[in-house]
Amino acid sequence: MAEPISEDARARTILFNTFWTSAGWKRERDRTADPADLAYAQAAGYMYEPLGGTHDEWVARACAAADRVTLAEAASAFVGSLGSRQLAARSALGSIATVRHLAPHAFALWPGAAACGGCGLYGTDRPEDLSVLSFERHKWGGVRHGSPIYAWLDLDVFARSARPVETARDVDILNRVLDTARGASPDARPADLERAIAPLLLSTKDERRVLLEVLALAGILATPDCPGLLETWVPITERQPPSKPSKNDWAYPMFSWRGFSGVNEAAAREVFGDRIR
Ligand SMILES: [Zn+2]
Repeated sequence: MAEPISEDARARTILFNTFWTSAGWKRERDRTADPADLAYAQAAGYMYEPLGGTHDEWVARACAAADRVTLAEAASAFVGSLGSRQLAARSALGSIATVRHLAPHAFALWPGAAACGGCGLYGTDRPEDLSVLSFERHKWGGVRHGSPIYAWLDLDVFARSARPVETARDVDILNRVLDTARGASPDARPADLERAIAPLLLSTKDERRVLLEVLALAGILATPDCPGLLETWVPITERQPPSKPSKNDWAYPMFSWRGFSGVNEAAAREVFGDRIR
């Protein structure tokens, strides 16, 4: 993957029609595209052939992608996405947080999960459906941010794509989102914060969930017990929700956020610098 990627409405429509209808997800067996359309979307960088890889190969790809995008670039695109609703560009901050402290390591079996207890990757060389990850990236700003495979795809595409230019209005939205978290009642839960930021930007509920989960992964809506991945690597085995999540299906570490947690100001400054007021 090396070619620049341009905005392409036709390729985007092909991607969306492959996975989604007005009623939601298509069943797996119905996720087909006309061969010519598929070829077009693949050439445009919106859809992909499945890609295999061993644990070590995926880790190496994710580490290499992390070197091609800086935290500052991802933070700027995140801010620029807030008013423009360029969700794909919003995603990179979560991915750079995910892999910036990922290091090459040996597969260490996570008993019962058939996966690596360090990074969560499977040990088998099974082909990964990258097109569904691309769909989630364009539709919601990504979903599987904790995965090195998603992070690799996201950062590889981000590095080759145009990015939104942030405006004063975008910076204002960012500060209003953080102000809302700072001002939440002490017992507020993630879903309360999601609802509270709804008036601040044009968005769906699922887009707001991803937005908050990205801020949490970047350590900003994190807690001392679940600090996110900005400062240090956290093995996948330590990213599990409490055994009684009480209907909490948010991703790590957002599931741990409560109103009294507020905002990690040091992380907010590290990521967003003097945009924070
Ligand atoms: Zn691993």
